[in-house]
Amino acid sequence: MTTTTMTRASAAVTLSAISRVYGRGNASVRAVDDVTLEFPRGAWTAVMGPSGSGKSTLLHCAAGLERVDSGQVLLGDTDLTTAGDRLLTSLRRTRIGFVFQSFNLIGSLTAAQNVALPLRLAGRRPSSALVRDTLASVGLADRARHKPRELSGGQQQRVAIARAMVTGPDVLFADEPTGALDSTSAVTVLELLRQMASAGQSIVMVTHDPLAAARADAVVFLRDGRVVDRLAGASARDVAARLASLEVGS
Ligand code: ADP
Ligand code: MG
Repeated sequence: MTTTTMTRASAAVTLSAISRVYGRGNASVRAVDDVTLEFPRGAWTAVMGPSGSGKSTLLHCAAGLERVDSGQVLLGDTDLTTAGDRLLTSLRRTRIGFVFQSFNLIGSLTAAQNVALPLRLAGRRPSSALVRDTLASVGLADRARHKPRELSGGQQQRVAIARAMVTGPDVLFADEPTGALDSTSAVTVLELLRQMASAGQSIVMVTHDPLAAARADAVVFLRDGRVVDRLAGASARDVAARLASLEVGS
């Protein structure tokens, strides 16, 4: 590693010795255990590991959705760990995009209204051109007035990605974004993420799927809340083999 200053300037997110513990005493679970990790700017990083290895907790801590118990989370140069609740809320609304496995769209709103929501929450007047362009960027220009129930799963997830991207976030976080999709829709979503990464978007994606992880620029592996490996440019086969070895405990 080079100097701290260089490190901070180059990473989209820097995790320094972060831990997150649930519960107390004998019943406590160290979901994230002393993780030090950088998510590079303009790159797509996948996070893999067995079920319960702390992937979601790590992602939530990195995105400022959850506080760490110790260590430091930097979003670019901004320290999320010392940020007060108001600052954190505003950062989440403006500099962070988050996509969930289950889409989490609001059923009573149209696609366009869902996409406009983060702008409204941030106190901005949503420009209809921006909403239209953002929907067009995920291939759904012609679905603006549709409600979520009138869209396929893959289309709903693309609306969710548009909603996460409309504020121009520094980092897009995604927790198993293809986990609820059929394989064809999953590929469409992954191709969209690839396009965004190639255009310079920093992306951090948790996934179970080696085919999804292999499309990222690098894959970080977790076990028992710790980073145990990192692969760059690995094939789906290599990723699957590494995950399988972690699942049996080596
Ligand atoms: P993953 O996403 O890799 O499946 P999680 O981050 O969801 O793993 O969970 C990591 C560990 O922390 C698991 O043992 C899980 O049971 C525990 N855990 C997660 N969230 C909570 C919570 N809110 N309360 C208590 N334990 C939790
Ligand atoms: Mg999870």
